[in-house]
This record gives sequence, C-alpha cells and structure tokens, in this order.
Amino acid sequence: MPRPHLPAWSALRLSHVLLPAAFVLLALCALPAQADKIPVFVSIAPQKFFVERIGGDAVDVSVMVQPGASPHTYEPRPRQMTALADTRLYFSIGVSFEEAWLPRIRSASPKMRIVAMDAGITKLMMEEHSHDEDAHGHDHDKDHGHAAAASHGHAAETPGKHDEDAHGHDHGHEHAAVPHGHDHDHDHENAHDHDHTGPDPHVWLSPLLAKQMAHTIADTLSEAAPERADFFRANLAAFEQELDALHNELLALFTPIPPEKRIFMVFHPSWGYFAHTYGLTQISIEYEGREPTPRIMAHLMEESARHGIRTVFIQPQFSRKSAETIASHIKGHLVVADPLDENWMENMRAVGKLLAQSFTQE
Ligand SMILES: [Zn+2]
Repeated sequence: MPRPHLPAWSALRLSHVLLPAAFVLLALCALPAQADKIPVFVSIAPQKFFVERIGGDAVDVSVMVQPGASPHTYEPRPRQMTALADTRLYFSIGVSFEEAWLPRIRSASPKMRIVAMDAGITKLMMEEHSHDEDAHGHDHDKDHGHAAAASHGHAAETPGKHDEDAHGHDHGHEHAAVPHGHDHDHDHENAHDHDHTGPDPHVWLSPLLAKQMAHTIADTLSEAAPERADFFRANLAAFEQELDALHNELLALFTPIPPEKRIFMVFHPSWGYFAHTYGLTQISIEYEGREPTPRIMAHLMEESARHGIRTVFIQPQFSRKSAETIASHIKGHLVVADPLDENWMENMRAVGKLLAQSFTQE
C-alpha cells in the first residue's frame, strides 16, 4: 500500500497558501479600524500620553522628538516630514525646535491642523540665576491662592533666592482649568538683573497645567471627530480625576517638608512649573543654555553646600559632566529625572518621590 504522500504534501502546500492568505485577511480586517483613527502628531512624548488619555482608540499618535533627543534643538528626520502628509492634527507645545520647524511642518501637510496645546497658559520666565540677588527688595506677596499649603514661604527665611514670588509676579493658579493667572506684565524694573532667556517651555511638568492641556485636547479631538465627542468628554473627566489625585498626592508629599528645605539642583531647568506648583526652588546648573563658567560652578558648589543639597538631578538628554563635578564636590550623588518620559503619570510620581527624598536626606 503506497504511503499517503500526496495528502501530507498537499496539506503542507495548503498551509503555505492558507497561512499567508489568513494574514492578508487579518490585515484587511484590521485596516478599517486603523483607518478610523485620527492620525495625530505631537512634538514630545508626554504629549502622546495626554492625547492618548483623551483620544483612546480613536487616535494614532506619533512623536516628533525621538527618544534621547532634546526638544530644544531637534531636527525632524525626512521620514517624519513625509509621515506628516497623512497627519490630520499636530499638537505643538512651545518647545524651541518648533520655532524653526513649524512653518516647514505646516507646509508638509497643508490639510493638517496645528493646535497649540499650551494655548491659554501664561508662561513663567526662565530664570537664569544670578545668585546674588539677595538685595531684591521685591514685593513678596504670597497671597496667591495656591491650592494648598505648599507655600513659597522660604522667601522670608532665605531672602530672594530662586523664588519666583520674589520677582513680583502675581501667581494665581487657583484653578487648573482657567488660564494660569500669572500677571506677567513684566514689572521687572525692580532691581532685578536676571538674565531671562524667554518663556519657560516646560509646561507639561505640572499636573495643573496638564489638566488645562487635556481640555484643549478634548475640544480639538471633538471638532475633528464630533461623533466621538462623548467618548472624549468621558475620558477627559476620568483623566481630570487622576490628575487631581496626582496633584493631591504630590501636595501631601511636599507639604510636611519645611519650605526652606525644598531646594533642588538640576542641570537643565526643566522643572520650573513643577517647582512652582509645589513650592519648590529649582537651582539650574546650566547657564543661559550653556555649561556654566568656572565662576558659576564655584558659586553653585558653595550654594549647594549652604542649602545642604546632596542630590543633583540630571536628564538623559543633556551632558552630566558639570553635574558630576558638583555632586562629587558636595559628596552627593546624581539622580536621573527625565522630563520627557512617555509614561508621564508614573514618572511624575517617581520624580516627586525622588525630590522629596532629596529634601529630607541629611
Ligand atoms: Zn528643556
């Protein structure tokens, strides 16, 4: 009896034919769902987190600034510029590479809508420390309805240093959903010789501002896909609750720490809004976007010793050289806090804990 070569052989052949066919079929089935998604581009990874929280399965989000790159200097790849042709929405956030690239991004896809996610947010000014500002004579008006006890009170104990309130800004963000009510009418004439290098772009690092941006995202997506507006509203409500919870957790973390201890040193000053929201003081090593001069380095070392700073925060996108020098001088250590982590919510919690630890360690 001949062995049944034929059936085995044909089964094999059949699987060769059927399997690829099955994949093609699967791909075809997946296509309509994929095509329903709104193609969205954002500048940085945390924005992807926000847009996905609101957009859920209705969006397909791509990030422009690639991991490890700095949003201050990023140059989009040709492949990314090509991908913009199929994009319907671009959420900008005010990081500096956009200045040079938004016009080109716009012309890469004339049908695409560009929406400023940071719309309505009044920016803090980047403060490049001049460190000897004790003679400031500003009006220390601390009555700024801060949602909590995270007062900026250390301005009284350690005069003027790095305290935004010392500069006569009227910070009134009592409600996250209303435009950050800073009264930045540049009343900087009061003996204030900081070198401001413009508005601080790092708005995504405050839960309160994230809430405001979430509203902008929900409005924009609802216009792009009105039939999913209810879905976006529901996601917005859920996300707002999570942001409130995060904000309260962070307040609970920092409030017990005396304000004069809430000082941290960081290479690149990414955490200005975070610091502002929780009454922390950020000391930047980077000076006007550059490595500090030897004189500034000496001053930073003296200052970190004076404030009992034992931790120097760095981020993966920038050099750690000068941070290392300072850390070894104060016998402290370096800690990575990445402002561009895509897993935004978890990262905010983690960085909050690292900062709180650094304030309380002896
Ligand atoms: Zn930055």
